[in-house]
Amino acid sequence: MANDSGLFVPVDTAFPFDNSYARLPERFYARLPPTPVAAPRLLKLNYALARQLGLDPDVLSSPNGVAILAGNRLAQGSQPIALAYAGHQFGGFSPQLGDGRAILLGEVIDRDGVRRDIQLKGSGPTPFSRRGDGRAALGPVLREYLVSEAMFVLGIPTTRSLAAVSTGEPVWREAELPGAVLTRVASSHIRVGTFQFFAAREDVEALRLLADHAIDRHYPEARKAAQPYRAFYEQVVARQANLIAQWMLVGFIHGVMNTDNSSISGETIDYGPCAFMDAYDPSTVFSSIDTQGRYAYINQPRIAPWNLARFGETLLPLLADTSDAALAIANEVLATFQPLYAAALLAGLRRKLGLFTAEEGDSVLAEDLLKAMAANQADFTLTFRRLGDAAGDPARDAGVRDQFLDPAVFDAWAVRWRERLAREPQDGVARRAAMHATNPLYIPRNHRVEAVLAAAIERDDYAPFEELMMVLARPFEERPEFAAYAEPPTDDMSSYKTFCGT
Ligand code: AMP
Ligand code: MG
Repeated sequence: MANDSGLFVPVDTAFPFDNSYARLPERFYARLPPTPVAAPRLLKLNYALARQLGLDPDVLSSPNGVAILAGNRLAQGSQPIALAYAGHQFGGFSPQLGDGRAILLGEVIDRDGVRRDIQLKGSGPTPFSRRGDGRAALGPVLREYLVSEAMFVLGIPTTRSLAAVSTGEPVWREAELPGAVLTRVASSHIRVGTFQFFAAREDVEALRLLADHAIDRHYPEARKAAQPYRAFYEQVVARQANLIAQWMLVGFIHGVMNTDNSSISGETIDYGPCAFMDAYDPSTVFSSIDTQGRYAYINQPRIAPWNLARFGETLLPLLADTSDAALAIANEVLATFQPLYAAALLAGLRRKLGLFTAEEGDSVLAEDLLKAMAANQADFTLTFRRLGDAAGDPARDAGVRDQFLDPAVFDAWAVRWRERLAREPQDGVARRAAMHATNPLYIPRNHRVEAVLAAAIERDDYAPFEELMMVLARPFEERPEFAAYAEPPTDDMSSYKTFCGT
């Protein structure tokens, strides 16, 4: 059996597709199949996610399934499209970006009734490729797989990774590299840049269709509000405020917070030169292309509202009849970002410090710890983790003190912390357990990620990748056999820059 694009359709690998985006008008996307690759090989399959999506992992790992995950075959019901979008990249506007190396295969309704996109990334050129080859290198594919799944387990909204397949074809970047395709799962691929695409064309009809689609899909409660588009904007702002707070609380740096990498659903999307901080330094930048530090850790809560302002601009024709009225609404909504972000951050910092009640001085207490950490090159993850041990037993302060160049700085702060803890209802044991459930011990440290990618790329050895995945699957649970994975890099290993994930 063959479909429109002439590809063989294996009937045994039907996905329960229901493709709502492909029912939007043709100017929202380009219809085309993925470009087949020479020699697909399944590198990693996410069994639990496959089942969550109603897909049979045994079928997916069969030759037919792998062919689908490589883009060599289309599953029944697939309506492959490359989505149109625009975006501000490092502050400059490009009216046409779009899926230059990704194809949305279709949407399925998962076991929780949530509509999920299944997309191939690295699946060949599209009308949006501009000068790109439409492909992805193995390293960035594995990095996205690892980091997105680690974020998911940490409870942070994110796109997921269903599979990684090598193509048997080289890609040319700074050097010749092995190529790969990632199967990405997202609650949608609608970006701030998708709205910008139509706003730049003054296509208000498309903007309204897109907003309605996004409301139905992500914010159905906004439909019932007195002003649905205002409510929609409010919800997007609220989810971004929460998302960025979650990033900050684990030391995550996205690296390329362009508006095209900013999801309307509030998920972390487009993992490129992303990383987790080791030593706490608010000015940390990982991306080698971010020479100005625009997307440094500490700038993330400033960039998100900048992106959301660009989003609000696209909604102006929908918000009110006059531009003055629309602008007033947009500004009111945008102004909610800062208080929502600050509240989410403070709530998270309280949990990190073991505080379950709220007091006026908590914010200063937390900020003073962060300042001391920055001045003393304390490891972000380990400081909070060991603080949980110290909360259970002051005799275990050493683990935290060790993180500080001058341990006396921590001692001085700990006096204030313990005064504050004395007014909490929990005992030390309960506090320690709660802190350990919010402060991970294992994060995808960059030196570890780089090492497992190198083993895969240079030696075709996936054992280190599998082991790191195993460690990151249970980030809150101390396991002695994996003690080394909790450690920050030694001096000669740090100061990595990651390269834009292409
Ligand atoms: P990114 O930096 O991955 O978020 O991508 C920004 C834009 O560049 C998007 O429109 C991508 O589709 C496009 N792009 C990135 N890499 C490639 C590539 N290798 N081939 C074609 N388009 C690409
Ligand atoms: Mg992108």
